[in-house]
Amino acid sequence: MEFKSFLIKYAEIGTKGKNRYVFEDILCKNIRSAMKRIDGRFLVRKEYGRIFVDCMEEYDFDEAVEALQHVFGIVGICPVLVLPNMEWESLSKELVQFIDESYDSKAFTFKINCRRINKEYPMHSMDVNIEGGAVLLDAFPELRVDVHKPDVMVHIELRDNIYIYSVKLPGPGGLPVGTNGKGMLLLSGGIDSPVAGYLVSKRGVNLEAVYFDAPPHTSPQAKQKVVDLAKLVAKYAGAITLHIVHFTDIQEAIYHRCPEDEITIIMRRYMMRIAQLLAERNDCQALITGESIGQVASQTIYSLQVTNAVCTYPVFRPCIGMDKQEIVDISEKIKTYETSILPYEDCCTTFVAKHPVTKPKLEDIVKSETLLEEVIDDLMKQALETEEILTVW
Ligand code: ATP
Ligand code: MG
Repeated sequence: MEFKSFLIKYAEIGTKGKNRYVFEDILCKNIRSAMKRIDGRFLVRKEYGRIFVDCMEEYDFDEAVEALQHVFGIVGICPVLVLPNMEWESLSKELVQFIDESYDSKAFTFKINCRRINKEYPMHSMDVNIEGGAVLLDAFPELRVDVHKPDVMVHIELRDNIYIYSVKLPGPGGLPVGTNGKGMLLLSGGIDSPVAGYLVSKRGVNLEAVYFDAPPHTSPQAKQKVVDLAKLVAKYAGAITLHIVHFTDIQEAIYHRCPEDEITIIMRRYMMRIAQLLAERNDCQALITGESIGQVASQTIYSLQVTNAVCTYPVFRPCIGMDKQEIVDISEKIKTYETSILPYEDCCTTFVAKHPVTKPKLEDIVKSETLLEEVIDDLMKQALETEEILTVW
């Protein structure tokens, strides 16, 4: 069967009252931009609490499904046959043809589930269920009816048009991006932060990102890798503005002036401070990191407390309770893993202490930071003034 339309199912969550329209409109807009990534012309339309994607010219089915599977808010993608309103005699023939073309083998159980929204339609939904079942059993003797647990549920919706579908491919779930503000993602070249960005954006949050670059300690390839990761996350999150902050001078100042075992934690605190400044300037409501308790010295609960102490914004750490393998599994699913494991150093691996503190005390760290007093304001100002900004999608 060659389908020319998809019926989009979305969760009821967030769709109550006035919000429902906002939610649906944003979802439609996001579907439109997702479909722009692929060949073909698509019309996205809303009809009675349903969203349809009509394919207006030749398109690749798998490519279209894949594009839709990147749009948060979608829970199901149903390839649907759209017919003009017609009488039962013609409709029953279409139904037979639909099953014939959709399934090579007819050795399955089915049930027909009719919804009659068009109250003018001369048959009631129960009659369509019964008659439709009879017509199909007649046409395909291998078919069996099972009203409790059918292998195939054949949906017939009688509206202005008539819709027939029997397959629901999974969507990514979540809420449409743009329904829940914006977060500033600290995006490194590792495995965790792209996953963190994906997970927060899944709840409807737009993303902006910041990467702390440290040339010449880090290579142009390391930076390119972050740009590539941002692009991969943007396939789900929509366009991402990436701030590339030159962090070398701050890092060197920390490295030369502060106790060796504290450099990582102090660096992390400056990253958070800059990220928060960028978040304030760019209308973000939260910071997002890929931290996970205990993964490395800078992510013990003690280190997290000390890092967090510089932030007044909420910091979302969706990987916090995950084991590495669980994070890897998500990164493989969202296809960031292959890029994340490319071997280019990020700035934290260059300036790493042999024995970093694992139980830093806030007052000690604050005291060590006074060693930066003479230079840090200028260096922060410079870092913010020289940021590179690019938008990927
Ligand atoms: P990831 O796999 O995300 O790189 P990681 O295991 O390497 O994480 P850390 O290097 O301790 O962990 O970094 C913790 C978090 O801090 C990262 O998940 C990321 O959000 C942020 N981060 C670290 N380095 C950078 C950087 N150079 N630029 C932007 N954010 C960074
Ligand atoms: Mg990292």
